[in-house]
Amino acid sequence: MLELKNITKEYPNGDSVVHALDKVSVCFRENEFVSVLGPSGCGKTTLLNIIGGLDRYSEGDLCINGVSTKKYHDRDWDSYRNHSIGFVFQSYNLIPHQSVLANVELALTLSGVSKKERRARAVAVLEKVGLGDQLHKRPNQMSGGQMQRVAIARALINDPAILLADEPTGALDSESSLQVMELLKEVAKDRLVIMVTHNPEIAEKYSTRIIRLRDGRITDDTMPYDGSDVAPTPEKKKRERKPSMSFFTALSLSFNNLMTKKARTILIAFAGSIGIIGIALILSMSNGIQQLIDRMEQETLSSYPLTLEKSTIDLSSMMSQNREPAADIERDNDHIYSVNVMSTMMDTMIQGSKVNNLSEFKHYIESGQSGLEELTSDISYTYSTPLNIYRTDTEHGTLQVNPNQIFAEIGMGQVTQNSGSAIPGSYMQTTMDVWVQMNSNEALLDSQYDIVAGRMPESYNEVVLIVDENNQVTDFTLYSLGLLDPEELKDALTQAAKGEEASLDTSTHVYSNDELIGLKFKLLTNTDLFVKEGDVWLDKSEDQAYMTSILNASEDITIVGIIRPAEGATTSTSNGVIGYRADLMTHLIEKVNTSPIVLEQKANPDTDVFTGLPFEAQEASASYTMVELEAYIAALPQEQQTELMGYVEQMRMSGMDDDSIA
Ligand code: ADP
Ligand code: MG
Repeated sequence: MLELKNITKEYPNGDSVVHALDKVSVCFRENEFVSVLGPSGCGKTTLLNIIGGLDRYSEGDLCINGVSTKKYHDRDWDSYRNHSIGFVFQSYNLIPHQSVLANVELALTLSGVSKKERRARAVAVLEKVGLGDQLHKRPNQMSGGQMQRVAIARALINDPAILLADEPTGALDSESSLQVMELLKEVAKDRLVIMVTHNPEIAEKYSTRIIRLRDGRITDDTMPYDGSDVAPTPEKKKRERKPSMSFFTALSLSFNNLMTKKARTILIAFAGSIGIIGIALILSMSNGIQQLIDRMEQETLSSYPLTLEKSTIDLSSMMSQNREPAADIERDNDHIYSVNVMSTMMDTMIQGSKVNNLSEFKHYIESGQSGLEELTSDISYTYSTPLNIYRTDTEHGTLQVNPNQIFAEIGMGQVTQNSGSAIPGSYMQTTMDVWVQMNSNEALLDSQYDIVAGRMPESYNEVVLIVDENNQVTDFTLYSLGLLDPEELKDALTQAAKGEEASLDTSTHVYSNDELIGLKFKLLTNTDLFVKEGDVWLDKSEDQAYMTSILNASEDITIVGIIRPAEGATTSTSNGVIGYRADLMTHLIEKVNTSPIVLEQKANPDTDVFTGLPFEAQEASASYTMVELEAYIAALPQEQQTELMGYVEQMRMSGMDDDSIA
């Protein structure tokens, strides 16, 4: 139940103030369809924004389920907006060059559901609004009525208890208006819908209650309610669900909400470099872990590589967190005290991070002045350019085999980013990727590995399968390469994560060498995913037909041999992986650098090729939830709205799409 008590909203206007709302008191049922009617400027939008927590009241109180919001913190408002409210605006506020599906999914990114479930829910809600067959269209290819239905689908995806609509049919012709109103009527069957409209006929026909507003005051209410006659319905119980989040999603989300974009970039770099295990260990222990890492390194590596990374974090400072009680309060035995580790951890991530100038360092090493060659047995370089590898010919259809999608698709993806530094034999493998770069020193490789079948790779488009001394590969590798059905593994993992019984095929699978040699993969660059339409480059990765054609046309990568560690080899391998040559990465970088989109961006450094807008427009900072962003954008002039949508898009492109919009 929602109750406004003497709500007043004042806006300063030169020397005087405008009373947009003047002591408005009104109470809403949990389930009704309310229309708010009134002339322009009478305070309708202001009323809706205050109800939705987008704007703060100057005086009075808003009670949500009987609880005053006077003491609400920003966090409480965030939670209320994200979990209880859906917004629909007159101008739709869709991202024009994103697919309908992506627009709707985006609204779910804050709620900690896996990508798979996000997709499923977005499809379901789009079917509900009658757009099940338009998932891959873009808003700018749709009619106004269709766009408004997409916006309604987006508002409904979190199943909010309250839907607020500000002149949702204001820009529509009469037939589209009817369709949208029928939909809102349907939506209002099991929630509170409050709709602002100019149109008394629509209000009359569809809503169960009409409130008239004039000069910031309620002048008429066709079905007043004092909040007393109804006990909380079971419906209310149902909505008080706890959002369920996987541990990793919860972890990444809490960081996402707390941190700036910079800090998050660092976190991802950090998580990528120490891997999933490291994060979990830090959270659970934080003390004594350095010794553990040292020991693991000694046991798993027989040689000690010196690794330089572009940005690093001083882990030791994080480990040595002081657990001494803070001296700020009196302590006794009758109380329990919190000890603060998370902010120290985050400070370390932000302040303890160092950026190295690696390209200059590489030039220095290659100049021969360093004398390092004499002291080291090998120097290899790895790059963080994403290595996108697909198989188009598995029994289970097209499959992305690298970066490994298995954990990403069940909602554990955030902390398994590829660090690009998993080199068999010289570095502890810290990612879930089964594709690893081999040492580029061929003499060293020859001495470390025996060829089981086939041969060593001789060019960038050739790879080897690395098995263990007993000719084994792990089932994880087989699932990842699509030799076993990855869906089976994902389902089992999802069940296991929920604490449910999960079973997996544990039989020993046998492959002949010939079945594996000759296996072909497809190499895709990130730039392949974009197509220029008009002035901007569009992401076509959601477009199945496009993906199929581009994959068919892309380069083959072929397994040419199977190798295993030689007896007495001093390097230990992470067995059962695909080893690729270092020149695959140089080839990839060359390809990316000479792609039309990159050339265009380089030629026009001031204009963002994804949006066609200047980069400065995208410098706004602070962190917004989707709903806040929408509201903020809705309040701006049209041209600025377009500009900001480009900014949202830019954030998505920079890889921060999953959990919040910064
Ligand atoms: P409606 O939606 O009914 O057209 P609004 O709620 O947008 O009306 O506005 C109510 C009154 O408050 C108007 O007089 C408007 O000029 C004023 N107002 C609304 N927002 C602001 C603002 N951000 N700053 C100053 N005045 C505002
Ligand atoms: Mg208005």
